[in-house]
Amino acid sequence: MMNTQDLLPEPPQSDELFVTFANTLAYTRGVASDLVAEPEALLGWLKENGLISERGRAMEAQRLLRDPAEAQRRLDRFRYLRALVHAIAERVNDGHRPTREQIRDLNHILRHGLHFHQLVSEAQGTRYSVAQVGDHLDQARATIASSLANFLAQDDPHRLRTCANEGCREVFIDRSPTGRRRWCDMRTCGNRAKVARHRSRTRTLPARAARH
Ligand SMILES: [Zn+2]
Repeated sequence: MMNTQDLLPEPPQSDELFVTFANTLAYTRGVASDLVAEPEALLGWLKENGLISERGRAMEAQRLLRDPAEAQRRLDRFRYLRALVHAIAERVNDGHRPTREQIRDLNHILRHGLHFHQLVSEAQGTRYSVAQVGDHLDQARATIASSLANFLAQDDPHRLRTCANEGCREVFIDRSPTGRRRWCDMRTCGNRAKVARHRSRTRTLPARAARH
């Protein structure tokens, strides 16, 4: 039933930041689990992916712990971006380009992470600093958004996919030579689809044939 070729490892998975981030919403048989549902989990993820420093993580954790309403707002902002990444991936997966609204939303997030370098004159001398329009978290969010924006502008945008397994929906980039990969992983989702097809074929066989 199984071909040994199916067990060969997939080509190395893309480590595009927006892909990793999109998949912090992980589906198992259609049931979603959010890997960054709590402020601490989100901050840990940002730290792990080099988007905030350890000091930044600790500072934000303290701030968000003191202010649950603010923590909720910040989580929502990241979720909004994640939903946008999924929506854009689904659209591209279906052979369309991102909508005007999706591009506008992405640009909005990018603008919120603006920062600029400046030379500040003080009594003691001059100081070079980076000023931000948003804050640490908005900037981290904009960095994720810019990884998607760069991908759409410069990479192979039509290779953006969502797994064909309805219960999985993992976002991935199809780097296969043919560009026809439909599943996040052939050994799991692809194989499940194959087994299901095999079963439905077996079921349709006449009862007499099945006895052999
Ligand atoms: Zn999958």
